Amino acid sequence: MSEQFDVIVIGGGPAGYHAAIRAAQLGLKTACVDAWAGKDGKAALGGTCLNVGCIPSKALLDSSKQFWNLSHSFEVHGISASNPRIDVGMMVGRKEKIVKQFTGGVAMLFKANKIAAYFGQGRLLKDRQVEVIAADGSKQILAATNVIIATGSVPIELPFAKFDGKHIVDNAGALEFATVPRRLGVIGAGVIGLELGSVWKRLGSEVTILEAMSEFLTAADADIAKAAAREFAKQGLKIELGAKLARAEIKGNEVHLTYSGKEGGKQLVVDKLLVAVGRRAYSEGVIGDGTGVKLDERGRVSVDEHCWTGVEGVWAVGDCVRGPMLAHKGFEEGIAVAELIAGKAGHVNYDTIPWVVYTEPEIAWAGKSEAQCKAEGIPCKVGNFPFAAVGRAVAMNEPAGLVKVIAHAETDRILGVHMVGACVSELIAEAVVAMEFKGSAEDLARIIHAHPTLSEAVHEAAMAVDKRAIHKVN
Ligand code: NAD
Repeated sequence: MSEQFDVIVIGGGPAGYHAAIRAAQLGLKTACVDAWAGKDGKAALGGTCLNVGCIPSKALLDSSKQFWNLSHSFEVHGISASNPRIDVGMMVGRKEKIVKQFTGGVAMLFKANKIAAYFGQGRLLKDRQVEVIAADGSKQILAATNVIIATGSVPIELPFAKFDGKHIVDNAGALEFATVPRRLGVIGAGVIGLELGSVWKRLGSEVTILEAMSEFLTAADADIAKAAAREFAKQGLKIELGAKLARAEIKGNEVHLTYSGKEGGKQLVVDKLLVAVGRRAYSEGVIGDGTGVKLDERGRVSVDEHCWTGVEGVWAVGDCVRGPMLAHKGFEEGIAVAELIAGKAGHVNYDTIPWVVYTEPEIAWAGKSEAQCKAEGIPCKVGNFPFAAVGRAVAMNEPAGLVKVIAHAETDRILGVHMVGACVSELIAEAVVAMEFKGSAEDLARIIHAHPTLSEAVHEAAMAVDKRAIHKVN
């Protein structure tokens, strides 16, 4: 007889491990199947986020930021250092330690919550049975009342620039360079391209990002994207828009790129190439025959607004379903599904998901952009406030960027908040709370913000909606 559970989660990434822990907290007998192996070949829970995504990239972003500041911005504080050097091996080693701490932390939480962890590839079979295929090929069948598919996503590979793991790499490869590449090419000026491009630029690489779209960072509000692009240009990060890669050839230790730019055919030679053109849902081999679970045209598991697949007891969450590929969106879906299974009112508000790009300055937003409001015919009013007029930002020597608050022209309800500047990854939380409580720009304007803090930019931008910001001419 196969072992029976209340819940089996296939995938121990951000969406999956949140689902498993919440299900266990609610008293459900829970198992989680995950195949991710760490460098030691042992199970490494946490998926892309903990192993090769959010956390390791932030570790390198922080290390490289210290190095950049040491050589570029400490002088203004009267601090000088001669000949700063970076030990890439040590920096990568520090990142590895952080990854291990957190993947180990998930394993510990599983133990504490009595979640049965299975190490291997999980596959949904008929009648909510799950096959676990271990690395040595041995198989085991489990069964459950509910199965949650949380298999995540994988990088998209371009057929004319295939990953070789050495010269042409994905995000995971770009976290592992042994030395600073002299010339780094990046395909795609999206979140990964900008974040990892920034890491190596700060460490001394000559970075060129080729972006197919003719506009920069279209996901963000146009004013924010414009301000960010200006700062990246000042840092020497080259971003070429309207650049379509035709071919990437490895010749010796170089990668030769052929692409069409705004002025016609072009060539670029780099030492390493990072391809970051998006990710696709990982669903191959996950769903066995006759389960009734459907995939959509993009290979994502089809689900309704409650992450239900339409098959009794089968759910799917995170990157393998529709919606933005963000770890925190997966967290909330995992928690909501576990709560729904336990008979509670699990819910995800997709309208207030915050976005963050961890560049310098950081970029963050939640809700609609001004262009989206216009396209949807929603009358809106806008308040902007620059960090250059915020005492704390200037004292920190971080005056770049602005906060933009968009409110409904008639009701004053906040529709979107957009930011570029220092620490906006933290500031965006206030906007999300305000929007979650259906707050108005006036609500934000009347809330006391500590002085001197960066959060005053949010306060003043909310006041600017009503043309009553204090520290600027409205
Ligand atoms: P992305 O969708 O953010 O950006 C991909 C970019 O590549 C786009 O701008 C696209 O126009 C461009 N592009 C596509 N094909 C191209 C081509 N042939 N030539 C040139 N440009 C091309 O994808 P990503 O940066 O790879 O990130 C993958 C996913 O991971 C995203 O969904 C992202 O949200 C998520 N992620 C999030 C964070 C974060 O929240 N900070 C960090 C990393 C990754």
